[in-house]
Amino acid sequence: MATNWGSLLQDKQQLEELARQAVDRALAEGVLLRTSQEPTSSEVVSYAPFTLFPSLVPSALLEQAYAVQMDFNLLVDAVSQNAAFLEQTLSSTIKQDDFTARLFDIHKQVLKEGIAQTVFLGLNRSDYMFQRSADGSPALKQIEINTISASFGGLASRTPAVHRHVLSVLSKTKEAGKILSNNPSKGLALGIAKAWELYGSPNALVLLIAQEKERNIFDQRAIENELLASIHSLWLLPIFPRNIHVIRRTFEDISEKGSLDQDRRLFVDGQEIAVVYFRDGYMPRQYSLQNWEARLLLERSHAAKCPDIATQLAGTKKVQQELSRPGMLEMLLPGQPEAVARLRATFAGLYSLDVGEEGDQAIAEALAAPSRFVLKPQREGGGNNLYGEEMVQALKQLKDSEERASYILMEKIEPEPFENCLLRPGSPARVVQCISELGIFGVYVRQEKTLVMNKHVGHLLRTKAIEHADGGVAAGVAVLDNPYPV
Ligand code: ADP
Ligand code: MG
Repeated sequence: MATNWGSLLQDKQQLEELARQAVDRALAEGVLLRTSQEPTSSEVVSYAPFTLFPSLVPSALLEQAYAVQMDFNLLVDAVSQNAAFLEQTLSSTIKQDDFTARLFDIHKQVLKEGIAQTVFLGLNRSDYMFQRSADGSPALKQIEINTISASFGGLASRTPAVHRHVLSVLSKTKEAGKILSNNPSKGLALGIAKAWELYGSPNALVLLIAQEKERNIFDQRAIENELLASIHSLWLLPIFPRNIHVIRRTFEDISEKGSLDQDRRLFVDGQEIAVVYFRDGYMPRQYSLQNWEARLLLERSHAAKCPDIATQLAGTKKVQQELSRPGMLEMLLPGQPEAVARLRATFAGLYSLDVGEEGDQAIAEALAAPSRFVLKPQREGGGNNLYGEEMVQALKQLKDSEERASYILMEKIEPEPFENCLLRPGSPARVVQCISELGIFGVYVRQEKTLVMNKHVGHLLRTKAIEHADGGVAAGVAVLDNPYPV
């Protein structure tokens, strides 16, 4: 994909002036992060890094990503309800990966006790890159789906105004008009509000499980703000026409102040909780023993967890890899051949590393052509995957060990690089070769066995310099962007 902004990117003086204007607009719009120096304070904040220009994305791929999102919602929901599939899929992984094993233990424990939760809420984000095909045309390929703490829906709602501003400064009003409106935070809030309403207790609250040090708090506040503003919508019955209050607590707070009554209703500080929204709990280092106990307490409760543990497990890389096996989608989504075809079209090559012939062959292929593969452990949050020589070393070491079952191998997506200018606090504006990753936010709500909401609610485009193989915005690698449809 060539850029539209070629000559603009060459004029250093103009770029610097544009960057100053863009940064001020980003700050005014609330495209904000707390600083790494003071991650618990909102006294001094800065802008979240972003591209000076929107990046070109083929409209057809955007449309395809939107069109398949409801299918992904259905698929995640189906996996989460299929205990046998989860058990079989994760059996080799949980022997080797302690984090997945702990999640799985809680899942089993709650299944045995009986699930008290009746309302299920999924807020996910499916991420894609644009694979350059042999004929040069780009194809939409899924990187992963995030089923817990999928972030940047709030800030992505505020970046279109920044790019429209930049293009307007350049008197490119026609181009400014092409920047898509985007409001994931409203859609995510709508899902939470629906789950809250179905829970059926007008005085109950939404509990956001927060990290002690949260730089990305304004992203979360955007959703809280939408909930607090009375949501007037066809999706909500007018039985509780009121604003919905969110309390923010850490796992430690829950272990000290959380309790269940005899019906397993969840109370925190004496207040009933209708919905638990996790913005923590997706990485091993986020759990002390105490935190695992808190997670178990929450999981056992009647409250709608977003996500419940089964849904978190449905988002593991191992599940993603197993879903790409022939027949799996058909088994999970019976009688829906069109959805299956849309889903499968987005799958890249995914390979099991379980001990056995199939895994041996995958390892041999990756060792023979390392640049074509990525080695992935069962981790979230960026910076965990291995590429190139590092992957080769790891594979050689893992080859003869059972530990290899805790990884999967994935085909490496190679998008066509393009130029854009990256803006970060504390660094001069940098024009570099970039690649983008498109995320689509999905929302669904299920009551017992009935799906009552299934939507896509917006997008996120993140762009990074090609020298970084891995990592998102929170990891300090990618920056926020907007698709410029072409
Ligand atoms: P995480 O759960 O840590 O976000 P991801 O699977 O999203 O893990 O990988 C992190 C980053 O690594 C992605 O944002 C992307 O930039 C890069 N990446 C992951 N898988 C691939 C792939 N198959 N091809 C190319 N890059 C990839
Ligand atoms: Mg990711």
